[in-house]
Amino acid sequence: MESILKPFTLDSGEQVVIWNARNITEKHHLEQKLRQLSEIDTLTGILNRRAFMNCLSDKVESFQIFGMNTSFLMLDIDRFKLVNDNFGHVIGDQVITHVTKTCQEELRKHDIFGRIGGEEFAIILHDADQDQAYEIAERLREAVDNNVCILDENTQVHTTISVGITQFQPTDTDNKFLLTRSDNAMYQSKKQGRNQVTIYDNSMHGNTD
Ligand code: GH3
Ligand code: MG
Ligand code: MG
Repeated sequence: MESILKPFTLDSGEQVVIWNARNITEKHHLEQKLRQLSEIDTLTGILNRRAFMNCLSDKVESFQIFGMNTSFLMLDIDRFKLVNDNFGHVIGDQVITHVTKTCQEELRKHDIFGRIGGEEFAIILHDADQDQAYEIAERLREAVDNNVCILDENTQVHTTISVGITQFQPTDTDNKFLLTRSDNAMYQSKKQGRNQVTIYDNSMHGNTD
């Protein structure tokens, strides 16, 4: 309900309030639906890049205040161009959805999972230091590796993911610090043969050639 209360004084001097109430359930549902449509990735049903980045900014801000252990993961499907080349773009899309579902099953309700690029994802892990994040990332990596995407009896697609991890730090005043470090770590996973998880360390700084 939406109410408007209007106090005023009658000619007689009596003070009254007019209360005008209307049912806005439909308007509210429509607004919710529109917000959802603008935040959700249509292919996978998880947060799209814009919504995820907004969440990340919020987490960066609250980390500055409360300093809770928080970790950040970046994931990229390995050799995905080959999937598209061998099976076509439509099956490629189904594989992206399959990998998303596989990861989602391993995550906790309050972890924040977004699709930030074509076959690239990111996750914010609450209350997890980098060692705990490593365990979770290894679980995701193994789950994807062990969970072949079965499209029909003749079409099975095996994929793997490479993951980069970094922890939120007090000097992270902007999303870009977390994105750069996790990307550097993910690049190491790719470089070392893919299907791997790597925790960022300072020696990886700027190492994405
Ligand atoms: P790497 O192991 O280095 O990540 O190799 P890669 O082949 O996965 O390379 P890269 O990440 O550069 O390529 C990603 C490919 O994913 C390129 C693009 O054609 C494809 N792609 C991006 N978005 C989509 C999408 O929404 N659907 C499908 N089917 N393919 C996509
Ligand atoms: Mg890739
Ligand atoms: Mg990629």
